[in-house]
Amino acid sequence: MGDNCIFCKIANGEIPSATIYEDGDFRAILDLGPASKGHTLILPKKHAANLFDLPDETASKLLVLAKKLGATLKDGLQADGLNLVQNNGTAAGQTVFHFHLHLIPRYANDTVNVKWQPGKLTEEDKAEILKFF
Ligand code: 5GP
Ligand code: ZN
Repeated sequence: MGDNCIFCKIANGEIPSATIYEDGDFRAILDLGPASKGHTLILPKKHAANLFDLPDETASKLLVLAKKLGATLKDGLQADGLNLVQNNGTAAGQTVFHFHLHLIPRYANDTVNVKWQPGKLTEEDKAEILKFF
């Protein structure tokens, strides 16, 4: 993959971006359509469409990096909180099919919406799901 993937081009520096961090594995960029001030995307340099395609080694480095960049964003911007959001598949809201982790700084009384209507865990669902594990 790569030729038609915009995030491959951004991650590998072929398309310029507002880069806040880069190492051999990742590039972190400011989102062009930020949910809030400081909204950042962490992109692996090697193409993976989604979480399920991400190599374990990359996945394990990712959360350490998210913690570090998230802390710097939160402190620097004096944010009140931070959401990590990561969408897999169209049904989950994924629009760019190169893995990316959203870091969304949160501010008291901001308009960001990452909420859902809580349902109820049924005995049937619980029994069905517990069988997978
Ligand atoms: P998704 O909905 O796939 O989880 O998130 C895609 C994100 O990528 C969106 O927040 C969107 O604003 C951002 N985005 C899409 N194209 C570009 C781009 O060319 N540059 C940057 N910096 N962000 C982009
Ligand atoms: Zn890609």
